[in-house]
Amino acid sequence: MTQINHHLTDALLMSYAAGTLPEAFNLVVASHISLCDECRARLGAFEAVGGGLLTEIGEAEVMADVEDVLARAEAIDSEIDMSGFQAEAGIFPRALQEYVGGDLSAVRWRPVGMGVKQAILKTSKSANVRLLYIPAGAQMPDHGHRGTELTLVLRGAFRDQDEHFARGDIEIATEADAHTPIADEGVACICLAATDAPLKFQGLVPRIVQKFVRI
Ligand code: ZN
Ligand code: ZN
Repeated sequence: MTQINHHLTDALLMSYAAGTLPEAFNLVVASHISLCDECRARLGAFEAVGGGLLTEIGEAEVMADVEDVLARAEAIDSEIDMSGFQAEAGIFPRALQEYVGGDLSAVRWRPVGMGVKQAILKTSKSANVRLLYIPAGAQMPDHGHRGTELTLVLRGAFRDQDEHFARGDIEIATEADAHTPIADEGVACICLAATDAPLKFQGLVPRIVQKFVRI
């Protein structure tokens, strides 16, 4: 398994455990978890503590419990059945394959311009999630967000400001971040990205594009 450097936050993992995330975010979280031992272990701890509990008691108490459960989980790690989480053949984690109806070859891409392609996946309306194909060396159009955006790298890699994101890494961008991911040279970058509000592109051409492609 490749080294993953960018992970889910505890807040996201807790919300996932409590079942309060929109479907689009659930898919990105589940996909990262199936690629990442570290977040899977933390999620297991949150689930053990009990998602329902999180809304009633303070975060500090929960975190103390989580550390406790994590310590115990480490002790029995070798006994845990991980067969459901073995690396799948292909590029897409199993949860994603269910939405796409297969692996990469089953995706129905639509061009967005400049060689970038996307495929919007069907989820409940409160947030949306899409696959993105960014040609090697190409950049995503400049954009800000009116909400949170989670981007999981599935193939290739991209650079955003000073940070580098490769397979399994997750980038969390918020309202304040206008950012410009640029795909590495060599291989096209394929990402899964969820947003809880429409992206607002900067500049006229992207705004026109946005009207037509629901990016
Ligand atoms: Zn992780
Ligand atoms: Zn973004």
